[in-house]
Amino acid sequence: MIKRLRGRKCHHKCDIHGEPCTVVLRYKDKKIQKTVDALRAISGAPLHTEDSDHYCELCALAMRQNRPLNAFARNSRGVVYIKNAGKSRFFENDEGELEMIEEEE
Ligand SMILES: [Zn+2]
Ligand SMILES: [Zn+2]
Repeated sequence: MIKRLRGRKCHHKCDIHGEPCTVVLRYKDKKIQKTVDALRAISGAPLHTEDSDHYCELCALAMRQNRPLNAFARNSRGVVYIKNAGKSRFFENDEGELEMIEEEE
């Protein structure tokens, strides 16, 4: 379960999907901001600026699943699906929510 942290988000759009960037530039919670700054210093990660690559929700979803960033797309009804998948692993339930089909191992 990922806690949604409040903060100021980047207002740019992702190049791949044209959706709003979800990168948080500055957290409201000072303690969290300190931790983020410290981690960035250790890893040497560059600051997220307008020249950075912008990541939208679909990019983040792909990164979490180790897929190429352009693996996901959104259809005209706002439903997220995997592009070029042999068979769709998502289906819409009766409420129009997206559900992932469990992979068989
Ligand atoms: Zn951004
Ligand atoms: Zn994106």
